[in-house]
Amino acid sequence: MDIQVIMDKYLSRLPQGIAARVFNTIKDIGFVKKAIEKELNTMMADLEGSLKPYKDKLESFAKLPENGLGKKDIINIMEDIHETEIFRWEDGYVSGAVYHGDQDHIEFLNQIYGLNSQSNPLHSDIWPSATKFESEIVSMTAIMLGADKTEDDICGVVSSGGTESILLAMKTYRDRARKEKNITRPEMIVPVTAHAAFDKAAQYFNIKIIHIPVGPDFRADMKVTKKAITKNTIVIVGSSPCFPHGVIDPIEELSELARKKGIGFHTDACLGGFVVPWAEKLGYDIPPVDFRLPGVTSISADTHKYGYAAKGTSVILYRGTKLRRYQYFTITDWPGGLYFSPTFAGSRPGALSAACWAAMVSIGEKGYLAATRKILETASTIKSGINQIPELKILGDPLWVIAFASDDLNIYQVMDQMGQKGWSLNGLHKPACVHICVTLRHARAGVADRFIQDLKTSVEFVKAHPDEKGEMAPVYGMAATIPFRGLVEDMLGKYIDLLYKVE
Ligand SMILES: *Cc1c(COP(=O)(O)O)cnc(C)c1O
Repeated sequence: MDIQVIMDKYLSRLPQGIAARVFNTIKDIGFVKKAIEKELNTMMADLEGSLKPYKDKLESFAKLPENGLGKKDIINIMEDIHETEIFRWEDGYVSGAVYHGDQDHIEFLNQIYGLNSQSNPLHSDIWPSATKFESEIVSMTAIMLGADKTEDDICGVVSSGGTESILLAMKTYRDRARKEKNITRPEMIVPVTAHAAFDKAAQYFNIKIIHIPVGPDFRADMKVTKKAITKNTIVIVGSSPCFPHGVIDPIEELSELARKKGIGFHTDACLGGFVVPWAEKLGYDIPPVDFRLPGVTSISADTHKYGYAAKGTSVILYRGTKLRRYQYFTITDWPGGLYFSPTFAGSRPGALSAACWAAMVSIGEKGYLAATRKILETASTIKSGINQIPELKILGDPLWVIAFASDDLNIYQVMDQMGQKGWSLNGLHKPACVHICVTLRHARAGVADRFIQDLKTSVEFVKAHPDEKGEMAPVYGMAATIPFRGLVEDMLGKYIDLLYKVE
């Protein structure tokens, strides 16, 4: 029997809680288990083709080759792969992912990386340059985000990405609360639209996460936030903007609430850290979200997104060195010597910090301002285009990360049609929608118009062919119709397994 039939026929009629319990009981019964397995395997087989395109084209190495390959041959392989993979993002078909991507910028970063490829900030005696670059990256970012001057008590560290910045901040609040307030059952208050990295932090560090709903404008609900505060609350979170809908939470109100209660407040500016300050300077009407607000005690900002660095760097900033201290790891009795590390990693790629520093000082204030202007103008073109398609609606009032949904059509089918035309957009759910995160790749002549044209055609196609099965529509359809987390988690686990399968 088809799993979907089981769902539709039997389980969907029961209340969710009971249905979940029934499902958990029956899922191990022979035929049900087989049906689920079959369904998942079919889905995975469908995905496998697009995940493993080199299966028949390139030699694969399940074990080390006995004799090393020639360097020239390897470079040839890499060049072929590069040619195959570059066109989608370079021509602006991809949401987010590559934020700058101009050839001369990439070559510049590559050159800097090459000069520093052996550098490791763990050995600050051998590469004092790494500490120079990192302290300056932190300082430049802090001042961009409302710290007064270099000696201001706003401080931070360079991490490997937005997720690490967020994990570090949440660990820091947990450890501070344990030490200073004796909180042993910490809780964090996080809008549902905040990045999944906060849920990851909650899982990793054993912090209870309280999800706050968003209003019709997709911003965190203040009233519910207020009610959610307990004596165990260690931090409240807001996004500037959030990843799904590109909307900025009421940071001023949220951080004030936190300050009055003596709780930490984290602004997640991973996405907007290097856009929002410049948008404000360009005259866009955006209330402050950074350290100018006294309640904001930490900010994450990704240099590897709109900072236009290579992938692998982000900045986590704190109000006060005392708070930052809770992030550090130090050990004094390890036989390996006196040891410390500011972040999760031990050895780290100094070359990425060098390239990040180089990106920032080569672009400068004027460069970031110009880039932001282009991105926001492109986004504005795209927003008007979407608004002209009657079947679609934009969610909230976003600046440059634009989510759209439909009351009439299956939006994932629209996404699949866009996929057929080369577009790689992000599928989101709860509610079902799709977004495009506008980058400099889209700010080039003709790209926004092509997006709108393709979107119109896709909507028309889905209207005319409502039953056309695409690639992602069934996956999201399944995730939406199955109310049981366990099964969907299983599906994601299988997907990750597939990523690591050698063909
Ligand atoms: C991208 C993003 C993150 C996480 O960043 P990674 O670099 O992918 O780990 C966190 N928050 C927001 C709002 C983001 O857009």
